[in-house]
Amino acid sequence: MISEEEARAKILGAVRPLPPRKLSILEVQDCFAAQDYSARLPLPNFDNSAMDGYAVIGSEAKTGKRLRVIGEQPAGADRQLRVSAGETVRIFTGAPIPSGADAVVMQEDVTRDGDEIVLNTDADPGEFVRRRGCDLGEGQKILSAGERIRAATLGLLASQGLDEVLVGGEVRAAIISSGDELVKPGEELDAGQIYESNSALLFGLLQRCRATVASTEHCGDNLDSLGKAFQSAAGNEILIVSGGVSVGEHDLVQAALKSLGAKIDIWRVAIKPGKPFLFGSIKKSRPSPQSYPSGRGSREAAGEGNLLKESSCFVFGLPGNPVSAFVTFLQFVRPAILKLMGAADLDLSKVPATLAVDLKNDGDRVHYFRGRLEHGSFAPVGRQESHALFGLSRSNALLRVAVGQSFQGGDLVEVELCDF
Ligand code: AMP
Ligand code: MG
Repeated sequence: MISEEEARAKILGAVRPLPPRKLSILEVQDCFAAQDYSARLPLPNFDNSAMDGYAVIGSEAKTGKRLRVIGEQPAGADRQLRVSAGETVRIFTGAPIPSGADAVVMQEDVTRDGDEIVLNTDADPGEFVRRRGCDLGEGQKILSAGERIRAATLGLLASQGLDEVLVGGEVRAAIISSGDELVKPGEELDAGQIYESNSALLFGLLQRCRATVASTEHCGDNLDSLGKAFQSAAGNEILIVSGGVSVGEHDLVQAALKSLGAKIDIWRVAIKPGKPFLFGSIKKSRPSPQSYPSGRGSREAAGEGNLLKESSCFVFGLPGNPVSAFVTFLQFVRPAILKLMGAADLDLSKVPATLAVDLKNDGDRVHYFRGRLEHGSFAPVGRQESHALFGLSRSNALLRVAVGQSFQGGDLVEVELCDF
Protein backbone atom coordinates (compact mmCIF):
# COMPACT_ATOMS: atom_id res chain seq x y z
CA MET A 1 0.00 0.00 0.00
CA ILE A 2 1.38 3.42 -0.94
CA SER A 3 0.41 6.86 0.34
CA GLU A 4 -2.10 9.06 -1.41
CA GLU A 5 0.61 11.61 -2.21
CA GLU A 6 2.87 8.96 -3.75
CA ALA A 7 0.00 7.61 -5.81
CA ARG A 8 -0.88 11.03 -7.12
CA ALA A 9 2.75 11.85 -7.92
CA LYS A 10 3.16 8.55 -9.78
CA ILE A 11 0.02 9.10 -11.84
CA LEU A 12 0.86 12.69 -12.71
CA GLY A 13 4.44 11.63 -13.49
CA ALA A 14 3.16 9.13 -16.04
CA VAL A 15 0.66 11.42 -17.73
CA ARG A 16 1.70 14.07 -20.31
CA PRO A 17 -0.46 16.73 -21.93
CA LEU A 18 -1.96 15.60 -25.24
CA PRO A 19 -1.16 17.49 -28.44
CA PRO A 20 -3.32 20.62 -28.73
CA ARG A 21 -6.07 21.09 -31.30
CA LYS A 22 -7.86 24.02 -32.85
CA LEU A 23 -11.61 24.05 -32.27
CA SER A 24 -14.48 26.34 -33.08
CA ILE A 25 -15.12 28.80 -30.28
CA LEU A 26 -18.50 27.17 -29.68
CA GLU A 27 -16.82 23.86 -28.78
CA VAL A 28 -14.23 25.00 -26.26
CA GLN A 29 -16.13 25.66 -23.06
CA ASP A 30 -14.34 23.95 -20.16
CA CYS A 31 -11.33 23.16 -22.38
CA PHE A 32 -7.94 24.56 -21.40
CA ALA A 33 -6.14 27.15 -23.51
CA ALA A 34 -3.06 25.65 -25.17
CA GLN A 35 -1.36 29.03 -25.58
CA ASP A 36 -1.46 32.51 -24.13
CA TYR A 37 -3.89 34.88 -25.82
CA SER A 38 -3.42 38.65 -25.89
CA ALA A 39 -5.85 41.34 -26.97
CA ARG A 40 -5.64 42.04 -30.68
CA LEU A 41 -8.11 44.88 -30.24
CA PRO A 42 -8.62 47.25 -27.32
CA LEU A 43 -12.04 47.20 -25.68
CA PRO A 44 -13.90 49.26 -26.55
CA ASN A 45 -12.04 49.67 -29.82
CA PHE A 46 -13.34 53.22 -30.45
CA ASP A 47 -14.83 55.96 -28.24
CA ASN A 48 -18.57 55.36 -28.10
CA SER A 49 -21.70 56.44 -26.32
CA ALA A 50 -22.88 54.72 -23.13
CA MET A 51 -26.41 56.18 -23.51
CA ASP A 52 -29.12 57.14 -25.94
CA GLY A 53 -28.87 60.95 -25.93
CA TYR A 54 -26.94 63.83 -27.47
CA ALA A 55 -23.22 64.17 -28.14
CA VAL A 56 -22.00 67.52 -26.88
CA ILE A 57 -18.88 69.56 -26.16
CA GLY A 58 -18.56 69.11 -22.39
CA SER A 59 -17.07 72.54 -21.69
CA GLU A 60 -20.13 74.37 -23.08
CA ALA A 61 -22.77 71.90 -21.86
CA LYS A 62 -24.47 73.85 -19.07
CA THR A 63 -28.05 73.77 -17.84
CA GLY A 64 -30.28 75.93 -20.06
CA LYS A 65 -27.88 75.81 -23.03
CA ARG A 66 -29.59 75.58 -26.44
CA LEU A 67 -27.85 73.45 -29.09
CA ARG A 68 -28.66 72.78 -32.76
CA VAL A 69 -29.05 69.13 -33.77
CA ILE A 70 -26.90 68.71 -36.90
CA GLY A 71 -27.39 64.99 -37.47
CA GLU A 72 -27.88 61.53 -36.08
CA GLN A 73 -25.31 58.84 -35.29
CA PRO A 74 -26.77 55.38 -34.57
CA ALA A 75 -24.65 52.35 -33.61
CA GLY A 76 -23.03 51.03 -36.78
CA ALA A 77 -21.23 52.78 -39.60
CA ASP A 78 -19.44 55.96 -38.56
CA ARG A 79 -21.16 58.86 -40.35
CA GLN A 80 -18.10 61.07 -39.83
CA LEU A 81 -20.14 63.90 -38.25
CA ARG A 82 -18.42 66.84 -36.59
CA VAL A 83 -19.74 68.82 -33.61
CA SER A 84 -18.77 72.50 -33.40
CA ALA A 85 -19.65 75.12 -30.77
CA GLY A 86 -23.43 75.46 -30.33
CA GLU A 87 -24.09 72.09 -32.00
CA THR A 88 -25.02 68.59 -30.99
CA VAL A 89 -25.57 65.17 -32.63
CA ARG A 90 -28.40 62.82 -31.71
CA ILE A 91 -26.57 59.63 -30.60
CA PHE A 92 -27.42 56.09 -29.49
CA THR A 93 -25.77 53.52 -27.20
CA GLY A 94 -22.68 51.99 -28.80
CA ALA A 95 -22.46 54.63 -31.56
CA PRO A 96 -19.07 56.24 -32.29
CA ILE A 97 -18.64 59.68 -30.70
CA PRO A 98 -18.55 62.31 -33.46
CA SER A 99 -15.35 64.31 -33.67
CA GLY A 100 -15.45 67.53 -31.67
CA ALA A 101 -17.82 66.05 -29.05
CA ASP A 102 -16.46 64.67 -25.79
CA ALA A 103 -19.56 64.00 -23.69
CA VAL A 104 -23.09 62.64 -23.99
CA VAL A 105 -26.20 64.02 -22.30
CA MET A 106 -28.91 61.42 -21.69
CA GLN A 107 -32.09 62.04 -23.66
CA GLU A 108 -33.99 62.13 -20.36
CA ASP A 109 -31.98 65.30 -19.43
CA VAL A 110 -32.86 67.20 -22.57
CA THR A 111 -35.94 69.03 -23.92
CA ARG A 112 -36.24 68.61 -27.68
CA ASP A 113 -37.51 71.65 -29.56
CA GLY A 114 -37.65 70.98 -33.32
CA ASP A 115 -34.07 70.74 -34.56
CA GLU A 116 -32.77 72.12 -31.29
CA ILE A 117 -32.41 70.87 -27.73
CA VAL A 118 -32.26 72.61 -24.38
CA LEU A 119 -30.06 70.97 -21.74
CA ASN A 120 -31.67 70.36 -18.34
CA THR A 121 -28.34 69.44 -16.76
CA ASP A 122 -24.63 70.20 -16.92
CA ALA A 123 -22.32 67.63 -18.57
CA ASP A 124 -18.66 67.21 -17.77
CA PRO A 125 -16.20 66.25 -20.50
CA GLY A 126 -16.05 62.45 -20.73
CA GLU A 127 -19.52 61.91 -19.29
CA PHE A 128 -21.25 58.82 -20.71
CA VAL A 129 -18.39 58.25 -23.12
CA ARG A 130 -16.83 54.77 -23.16
CA ARG A 131 -13.23 55.54 -24.04
CA ARG A 132 -11.25 53.37 -26.43
CA GLY A 133 -9.22 50.83 -24.40
CA CYS A 134 -10.72 51.74 -21.02
CA ASP A 135 -11.75 48.11 -20.38
CA LEU A 136 -8.89 46.29 -22.09
CA GLY A 137 -5.69 47.60 -23.63
CA GLU A 138 -4.31 46.26 -26.90
CA GLY A 139 -1.70 43.56 -26.21
CA GLN A 140 -2.98 42.91 -22.68
CA LYS A 141 -3.10 39.20 -21.80
CA ILE A 142 -6.66 37.85 -21.88
CA LEU A 143 -6.07 34.12 -21.39
CA SER A 144 -3.09 32.10 -20.16
CA ALA A 145 -2.05 28.67 -21.39
CA GLY A 146 -3.58 26.08 -19.06
CA GLU A 147 -6.48 28.30 -18.01
CA ARG A 148 -10.00 26.88 -18.16
CA ILE A 149 -12.26 28.49 -20.72
CA ARG A 150 -15.52 29.70 -19.17
CA ALA A 151 -18.57 31.34 -20.69
CA ALA A 152 -17.19 34.83 -20.02
CA THR A 153 -13.88 33.78 -21.62
CA LEU A 154 -15.80 32.71 -24.72
CA GLY A 155 -17.37 36.16 -24.87
CA LEU A 156 -14.00 37.84 -24.48
CA LEU A 157 -12.35 35.69 -27.18
CA ALA A 158 -15.25 36.37 -29.54
CA SER A 159 -14.96 40.10 -28.84
CA GLN A 160 -11.47 39.81 -30.30
CA GLY A 161 -12.85 38.41 -33.52
CA LEU A 162 -11.60 34.89 -32.82
CA ASP A 163 -13.74 32.04 -34.10
CA GLU A 164 -11.24 29.28 -33.33
CA VAL A 165 -9.21 28.57 -30.21
CA LEU A 166 -6.16 26.37 -29.63
CA VAL A 167 -6.97 24.10 -26.69
CA GLY A 168 -5.56 20.96 -25.06
CA GLY A 169 -6.25 17.56 -26.61
CA GLU A 170 -9.38 15.50 -26.26
CA VAL A 171 -9.48 12.83 -23.58
CA ARG A 172 -11.61 9.90 -24.64
CA ALA A 173 -12.58 7.63 -21.80
CA ALA A 174 -13.99 4.12 -21.80
CA ILE A 175 -16.09 3.11 -18.81
CA ILE A 176 -16.21 -0.56 -17.88
CA SER A 177 -18.22 -1.88 -14.96
CA SER A 178 -17.62 -5.35 -13.60
CA GLY A 179 -19.54 -7.67 -11.32
CA ASP A 180 -21.88 -10.66 -11.75
CA GLU A 181 -24.45 -9.06 -9.44
CA LEU A 182 -24.98 -5.97 -11.56
CA VAL A 183 -28.01 -5.28 -13.73
CA LYS A 184 -28.42 -2.46 -16.20
CA PRO A 185 -30.93 0.20 -15.03
CA GLY A 186 -34.19 -0.28 -16.87
CA GLU A 187 -34.02 -4.09 -16.66
CA GLU A 188 -35.60 -6.47 -14.12
CA LEU A 189 -33.75 -7.26 -10.88
CA ASP A 190 -33.54 -10.82 -9.53
CA ALA A 191 -32.86 -11.69 -5.90
CA GLY A 192 -29.28 -10.88 -4.98
CA GLN A 193 -28.79 -8.46 -7.83
CA ILE A 194 -28.33 -4.70 -7.73
CA TYR A 195 -28.46 -2.01 -10.34
CA GLU A 196 -25.21 -1.00 -11.95
CA SER A 197 -24.82 2.63 -10.90
CA ASN A 198 -21.12 3.40 -11.26
CA SER A 199 -21.26 3.87 -15.02
CA ALA A 200 -23.84 6.63 -14.59
CA LEU A 201 -21.80 8.19 -11.76
CA LEU A 202 -18.58 8.08 -13.79
CA PHE A 203 -20.36 9.34 -16.88
CA GLY A 204 -21.46 12.41 -14.92
CA LEU A 205 -18.01 12.99 -13.47
CA LEU A 206 -16.31 12.62 -16.84
CA GLN A 207 -18.70 15.10 -18.39
CA ARG A 208 -17.82 17.58 -15.68
CA CYS A 209 -14.15 17.15 -16.61
CA ARG A 210 -15.08 17.70 -20.28
CA ALA A 211 -13.74 14.27 -21.18
CA THR A 212 -15.52 12.39 -23.95
CA VAL A 213 -17.18 9.16 -22.89
CA ALA A 214 -16.22 6.93 -25.81
CA SER A 215 -17.96 3.75 -24.59
CA THR A 216 -19.61 2.13 -21.60
CA GLU A 217 -19.55 -1.61 -21.21
CA HIS A 218 -20.46 -4.11 -18.53
CA CYS A 219 -18.55 -7.35 -17.84
CA GLY A 220 -19.24 -10.26 -15.56
CA ASP A 221 -16.56 -11.49 -13.20
CA ASN A 222 -14.65 -13.53 -15.74
CA LEU A 223 -11.23 -13.12 -17.24
CA ASP A 224 -12.29 -13.59 -20.79
CA SER A 225 -14.92 -10.87 -21.00
CA LEU A 226 -12.79 -8.46 -18.96
CA GLY A 227 -9.81 -9.08 -21.25
CA LYS A 228 -11.89 -8.48 -24.37
CA ALA A 229 -13.42 -5.31 -22.95
CA PHE A 230 -10.00 -3.94 -21.95
CA GLN A 231 -8.58 -4.75 -25.36
CA SER A 232 -11.28 -2.93 -27.23
CA ALA A 233 -11.14 0.07 -24.84
CA ALA A 234 -7.36 0.44 -25.11
CA GLY A 235 -7.56 2.78 -28.11
CA ASN A 236 -8.78 5.54 -25.80
CA GLU A 237 -6.67 7.86 -23.70
CA ILE A 238 -8.08 6.41 -20.50
CA LEU A 239 -10.02 3.39 -19.37
CA ILE A 240 -11.90 3.39 -16.09
CA VAL A 241 -13.00 0.06 -14.72
CA SER A 242 -15.01 -0.13 -11.52
CA GLY A 243 -15.31 -3.17 -9.31
CA GLY A 244 -13.16 -6.31 -9.28
CA VAL A 245 -9.95 -4.59 -8.15
CA SER A 246 -9.95 -5.90 -4.59
CA VAL A 247 -8.57 -9.12 -3.17
CA GLY A 248 -11.47 -11.59 -3.49
CA GLU A 249 -11.51 -14.61 -5.80
CA HIS A 250 -13.96 -12.74 -8.04
CA ASP A 251 -11.75 -9.68 -8.33
CA LEU A 252 -10.21 -10.42 -11.70
CA VAL A 253 -9.43 -6.99 -13.12
CA GLN A 254 -5.74 -7.14 -12.30
CA ALA A 255 -5.30 -10.63 -13.71
CA ALA A 256 -7.14 -9.67 -16.89
CA LEU A 257 -4.96 -6.59 -17.31
CA LYS A 258 -1.79 -8.61 -16.79
CA SER A 259 -2.89 -11.18 -19.34
CA LEU A 260 -2.91 -8.33 -21.90
CA GLY A 261 0.60 -7.26 -20.93
CA ALA A 262 -0.62 -4.17 -19.09
CA LYS A 263 1.78 -2.45 -16.71
CA ILE A 264 0.39 -2.07 -13.18
CA ASP A 265 2.01 0.90 -11.44
CA ILE A 266 -0.20 1.21 -8.39
CA TRP A 267 -2.43 -1.16 -6.50
CA ARG A 268 -3.77 -0.22 -3.10
CA VAL A 269 -3.49 3.27 -1.71
CA ALA A 270 -3.78 4.45 1.90
CA ILE A 271 -7.02 6.33 1.29
CA LYS A 272 -10.46 5.87 2.82
CA PRO A 273 -12.64 5.17 1.03
CA GLY A 274 -10.81 3.72 -1.96
CA LYS A 275 -8.02 1.45 -0.74
CA PRO A 276 -8.09 -1.09 -3.65
CA PHE A 277 -7.47 1.67 -6.25
CA LEU A 278 -5.34 0.54 -9.18
CA PHE A 279 -3.43 2.49 -11.84
CA GLY A 280 -1.57 1.17 -14.83
CA SER A 281 -1.34 1.38 -18.59
CA ILE A 282 -1.90 -0.66 -21.71
CA LYS A 283 0.07 0.06 -24.88
CA LYS A 284 -2.30 1.84 -27.17
CA SER A 285 -3.65 0.16 -30.27
CA ARG A 286 -3.79 3.16 -32.58
CA PRO A 287 -3.18 3.96 -36.22
CA SER A 288 0.11 5.60 -37.20
CA PRO A 289 0.16 9.43 -37.10
CA GLN A 290 0.13 9.69 -40.93
CA SER A 291 -3.26 8.04 -41.15
CA TYR A 292 -5.05 10.75 -39.18
CA PRO A 293 -7.23 12.92 -41.34
CA SER A 294 -6.11 16.55 -41.35
CA GLY A 295 -8.30 19.60 -40.88
CA ARG A 296 -10.18 21.31 -38.12
CA GLY A 297 -10.23 19.48 -34.84
CA SER A 298 -7.90 16.76 -36.04
CA ARG A 299 -4.75 15.68 -34.29
CA GLU A 300 -2.53 17.64 -36.59
CA ALA A 301 -0.65 19.69 -34.03
CA ALA A 302 3.11 19.67 -33.83
CA GLY A 303 4.72 16.89 -31.85
CA GLU A 304 1.92 14.42 -32.40
CA GLY A 305 4.23 11.81 -33.95
CA ASN A 306 6.54 11.67 -30.94
CA LEU A 307 3.75 11.47 -28.45
CA LEU A 308 1.93 8.79 -30.36
CA LYS A 309 4.89 6.43 -30.51
CA GLU A 310 4.99 6.07 -26.78
CA SER A 311 1.33 6.66 -26.10
CA SER A 312 -0.53 4.49 -23.64
CA CYS A 313 -4.06 3.99 -22.51
CA PHE A 314 -4.04 4.81 -18.82
CA VAL A 315 -6.06 2.39 -16.75
CA PHE A 316 -7.79 3.43 -13.55
CA GLY A 317 -9.24 0.57 -11.51
CA LEU A 318 -11.74 2.02 -9.06
CA PRO A 319 -13.27 0.06 -6.20
CA GLY A 320 -16.85 -0.99 -6.91
CA ASN A 321 -18.36 0.72 -3.90
CA PRO A 322 -19.84 3.92 -5.32
CA VAL A 323 -18.42 6.32 -2.73
CA SER A 324 -14.95 4.82 -3.17
CA ALA A 325 -15.30 5.20 -6.93
CA PHE A 326 -16.36 8.84 -6.48
CA VAL A 327 -13.54 9.78 -4.11
CA THR A 328 -10.79 7.99 -6.06
CA PHE A 329 -12.08 9.52 -9.28
CA LEU A 330 -11.77 13.01 -7.83
CA GLN A 331 -8.41 12.45 -6.16
CA PHE A 332 -6.65 10.45 -8.90
CA VAL A 333 -8.55 10.31 -12.19
CA ARG A 334 -9.66 13.92 -12.44
CA PRO A 335 -6.17 15.42 -12.03
CA ALA A 336 -4.83 13.01 -14.65
CA ILE A 337 -7.56 13.99 -17.11
CA LEU A 338 -6.94 17.66 -16.48
CA LYS A 339 -3.20 17.22 -17.03
CA LEU A 340 -3.86 15.35 -20.30
CA MET A 341 -6.08 18.26 -21.33
CA GLY A 342 -3.34 20.79 -20.60
CA ALA A 343 -4.79 22.32 -17.42
CA ALA A 344 -2.52 24.35 -15.17
CA ASP A 345 -4.53 23.77 -12.00
CA LEU A 346 -5.29 20.12 -11.25
CA ASP A 347 -6.78 20.53 -7.79
CA LEU A 348 -10.35 20.72 -6.61
CA SER A 349 -11.31 24.19 -5.42
CA LYS A 350 -10.74 24.63 -1.70
CA VAL A 351 -12.67 26.93 0.60
CA PRO A 352 -12.48 27.63 4.31
CA ALA A 353 -15.28 26.29 6.50
CA THR A 354 -16.18 26.01 10.15
CA LEU A 355 -16.55 22.41 11.21
CA ALA A 356 -19.96 21.63 12.73
CA VAL A 357 -18.93 18.46 14.61
CA ASP A 358 -15.87 16.72 16.12
CA LEU A 359 -14.01 14.47 13.65
CA LYS A 360 -10.94 12.33 14.02
CA ASN A 361 -8.99 9.83 12.01
CA ASP A 362 -7.49 7.08 14.15
CA GLY A 363 -7.12 4.72 11.20
CA ASP A 364 -4.06 4.13 9.02
CA ARG A 365 -5.37 5.80 5.87
CA VAL A 366 -6.15 9.41 5.02
CA HIS A 367 -9.93 9.79 5.36
CA TYR A 368 -12.16 11.83 3.08
CA PHE A 369 -15.38 12.74 4.89
CA ARG A 370 -18.29 13.56 2.63
CA GLY A 371 -20.47 16.39 3.78
CA ARG A 372 -22.41 19.48 3.14
CA LEU A 373 -20.99 22.97 3.11
CA GLU A 374 -23.68 25.53 3.84
CA HIS A 375 -23.20 29.17 4.82
CA GLY A 376 -19.56 28.50 5.63
CA SER A 377 -20.26 25.52 7.91
CA PHE A 378 -19.30 21.95 7.00
CA ALA A 379 -21.10 18.91 8.45
CA PRO A 380 -20.71 15.27 7.40
CA VAL A 381 -23.81 13.86 5.74
CA GLY A 382 -25.22 10.36 5.99
CA ARG A 383 -23.34 7.17 6.71
CA GLN A 384 -19.60 7.54 6.16
CA GLU A 385 -19.35 4.14 4.54
CA SER A 386 -18.20 3.36 1.06
CA HIS A 387 -21.53 1.97 -0.17
CA ALA A 388 -23.57 4.91 1.19
CA LEU A 389 -24.61 6.54 -2.05
CA PHE A 390 -27.51 8.54 -0.64
CA GLY A 391 -25.29 10.47 1.79
CA LEU A 392 -22.91 11.12 -1.08
CA SER A 393 -25.75 12.48 -3.19
CA ARG A 394 -26.49 15.08 -0.48
CA SER A 395 -22.82 16.11 -0.17
CA ASN A 396 -21.11 18.98 -1.90
CA ALA A 397 -17.70 18.98 -0.22
CA LEU A 398 -14.97 16.67 1.04
CA LEU A 399 -12.92 17.11 4.18
CA ARG A 400 -9.53 15.42 4.12
CA VAL A 401 -8.48 14.23 7.57
CA ALA A 402 -4.89 12.96 7.73
CA VAL A 403 -3.88 9.90 9.76
CA GLY A 404 -3.87 10.80 13.46
CA GLN A 405 -5.50 14.17 12.86
CA SER A 406 -8.47 15.27 14.94
CA PHE A 407 -10.74 18.29 14.77
CA GLN A 408 -13.29 19.77 17.12
CA GLY A 409 -16.58 21.39 16.29
CA GLY A 410 -15.92 25.09 15.62
CA ASP A 411 -12.46 24.49 14.14
CA LEU A 412 -11.64 26.31 10.94
CA VAL A 413 -10.90 23.77 8.18
CA GLU A 414 -10.45 23.79 4.42
CA VAL A 415 -12.84 21.65 2.39
CA GLU A 416 -12.66 20.58 -1.23
CA LEU A 417 -15.69 21.36 -3.33
CA CYS A 418 -17.14 18.32 -5.07
CA ASP A 419 -20.49 19.68 -6.15
CA PHE A 420 -20.34 17.87 -9.46
P1 AMP B 1 -16.03 -4.93 -5.74
O1 AMP B 1 -15.11 -3.76 -5.82
O2 AMP B 1 -16.23 -5.59 -7.07
O3 AMP B 1 -15.60 -5.88 -4.69
O4 AMP B 1 -17.43 -4.35 -5.32
C1 AMP B 1 -17.60 -3.73 -4.07
C2 AMP B 1 -19.06 -3.38 -3.86
O5 AMP B 1 -19.45 -2.45 -4.84
C3 AMP B 1 -20.00 -4.55 -3.99
O6 AMP B 1 -21.02 -4.40 -3.03
C4 AMP B 1 -20.56 -4.39 -5.39
O7 AMP B 1 -21.83 -4.96 -5.54
C5 AMP B 1 -20.60 -2.90 -5.54
N1 AMP B 1 -20.44 -2.51 -6.93
C6 AMP B 1 -19.46 -2.90 -7.76
N2 AMP B 1 -19.60 -2.35 -8.96
C7 AMP B 1 -20.71 -1.61 -8.90
C8 AMP B 1 -21.39 -0.79 -9.85
N3 AMP B 1 -20.93 -0.65 -11.10
N4 AMP B 1 -22.52 -0.17 -9.46
C9 AMP B 1 -22.98 -0.32 -8.20
N5 AMP B 1 -22.37 -1.04 -7.26
C10 AMP B 1 -21.24 -1.71 -7.61
MG1 MG C 1 -17.20 -7.27 -7.68
